[in-house]
Amino acid sequence: FSSKLPETAVSIFSQMTALSNAHGAVNLSQGFPDFPADPELINLVTEYMQQGFNQYAPMPGIMELRQAIANKLEYLYRVQVNPETEITITSGGTQALFTAIGTVVQPGDEVIIFEPAYDSYKPSVELFGGKVIPVRLQTPIFQIDWDEVESLISEKTRLIIINNPNNPTATVLAQEDLLALERLVVDRNIYVLSDEVYEHIIYDERVHQSVIQYPGLRERSFLVASFGKLLHTTGWKLGYIIAPPFLTTEFRKIHQFNVFSSNTPMQYAVARYLEQQGRYLNLSSFFEKKRDLLVMGLQETRFNILPSQGTYFLLVDYSNISDQDELSFAQYITREHRVAMVPVSAFYSKVYNQQLLRICFAKKEATLVSAIQHLKEL
Ligand code: PMP
Ligand code: GLN
Repeated sequence: FSSKLPETAVSIFSQMTALSNAHGAVNLSQGFPDFPADPELINLVTEYMQQGFNQYAPMPGIMELRQAIANKLEYLYRVQVNPETEITITSGGTQALFTAIGTVVQPGDEVIIFEPAYDSYKPSVELFGGKVIPVRLQTPIFQIDWDEVESLISEKTRLIIINNPNNPTATVLAQEDLLALERLVVDRNIYVLSDEVYEHIIYDERVHQSVIQYPGLRERSFLVASFGKLLHTTGWKLGYIIAPPFLTTEFRKIHQFNVFSSNTPMQYAVARYLEQQGRYLNLSSFFEKKRDLLVMGLQETRFNILPSQGTYFLLVDYSNISDQDELSFAQYITREHRVAMVPVSAFYSKVYNQQLLRICFAKKEATLVSAIQHLKEL
């Protein structure tokens, strides 16, 4: 048997969560909230199930939800998006990413990604016969050098994947970055996949820059979003993708034979819930308080803290504490000090040991306080 993904193992998130559970550790590894979703939202799902909304949704998603998303985009970014031809509901962000990659990547095509990168990009590209061209961003700023990106573009480059705000670096792209990307791709046969699942989690009064706001990008981009992040419901696996009609048509050809359609009662519930505009705007201040609590606590440890501009992640440097490699050190802390974190080496296609760990702070205050107590032992 010949593996299609010989270099791929069980994901680091599954590994660390399993280790954390085995040792009764505080799990700050896999990115998910440990607090409940809004009971009003849960009640809506139950209501729709009881009313009999339990059969297949239309393949691209129910129109009520696509319209609610179009309303959100108009309200936030002042852009008009056609829910019929440009918005598709997906079973989470990961499925949207996978199907979008499958839509444009042909065998032999090159795909530029920025490392550290979310773990699903590379295997997805490779499954469709593409080749990943990684651009390594340098700690601690992780800034993109767009001249370097240009130098890596070839006849074979078909797709550039960006993730803004970024998991795991917690950095946010500026307007100049989006403009530089736009200049690179217009007049070239290159598409953009913009993973914006953390669009509403952005700190210190920064403003999210979406590809949908840049005409030269919008006409060739997929924008991926996730209700798991927006509504604290990562287990619902509900998200959406926005793309111009010609890309949406091709995306849906694959989507219909991959998942066909996503969870019906949840789509109705989310559509109703989103009717109340502005709910998503509280997310940044909600998570900013958690970030600040974690930063304050970490200042009393021997970890060095890298700035978190967005997402619910933060990186720490442990070079003052240990010279172990990242995976061994993360496993050691989980076993001996009962806090689970993610080694940043998991987000690279080559192993670099930069002595960095990723912490998820989408947690109750008590969880963060308890983790800090444990980390002070180090
Ligand atoms: N992209 C990034 C950068 C993520 O961090 C995640 C999930 N944490 C996803 C995509 C996937 O989202 P979902 O859980 O909706 O599949
Ligand atoms: N995206 C989440 C994280 O970064 C994990 C999602 C998963 O486990 N697939 O931690």
